[in-house]
Amino acid sequence: MHANFLELVFTAIGGLILGSFLNVVIHRLPRGESLVRPGSHCPHCGVSLRPWDNVPLVSWLVLRGRCRECGEPIAARYPLVEVATALLFVAVVALRDSTVGIVLGLALVAVLVPAALIDLDHRIIPNRLLLPAAAVAILAGTALDPAGEPERLIAAAAAGGFLLLAVLAYPRGMGMGDVKLAAVMGLFLGRAVGPAMLGALVVGVAVGAVVIARHGAVRGRKTAVPFGPMLGLGGLVGLFAGGAIVSWYLATFA
Ligand SMILES: [Zn+2]
Repeated sequence: MHANFLELVFTAIGGLILGSFLNVVIHRLPRGESLVRPGSHCPHCGVSLRPWDNVPLVSWLVLRGRCRECGEPIAARYPLVEVATALLFVAVVALRDSTVGIVLGLALVAVLVPAALIDLDHRIIPNRLLLPAAAVAILAGTALDPAGEPERLIAAAAAGGFLLLAVLAYPRGMGMGDVKLAAVMGLFLGRAVGPAMLGALVVGVAVGAVVIARHGAVRGRKTAVPFGPMLGLGGLVGLFAGGAIVSWYLATFA
């Protein structure tokens, strides 16, 4: 099942629009604000955005990253989140080869992007994100691929349990939000969550080494680095290479 060019174009547009909504989620969810009211407004002067000033990516480029009303800069992160979501969406549709793989893959991208950035900003991964994510994963997985659901539930328990042990052994830098996110990733990825966790740990060790190199061993060890973004990157490894890595591993060692 390979997507044609037009399908990929529509996927990219859908990704830009969803990325625009994810910006709202990233900003408002950890603050306990409504995701729908009020409408989008400039964070500096509060002016409401007209629809044509709120077109994903395009408006930011046309306005050259500034508010039309007060001229204050609008962070480049907004269009970057939109473009990243669009590119990941296109990659999911182009590379995954089953309906269930595509649906769960798109939903996982829509969870990992806000989870990683909210954790980076606030050092939390809200239940208001994780619980709906778990529900979507179980409902979509059961509806589209009931035979695969036991594997995904076991993967969730294994990934969550593995990280729970890591949190108990090494509390600094990781928390229960990370444990829950790992479990949610298992619900989406099934056995590919194994390579995802490995990817997250490799990124974590690399980032830890950079922090220690920059700040020295004593201060570096005290610097708590949020693990959510690393789980997000690991999740992408699992999403795009997890199946291949698991097959290779089984063929080589099993
Ligand atoms: Zn403004």
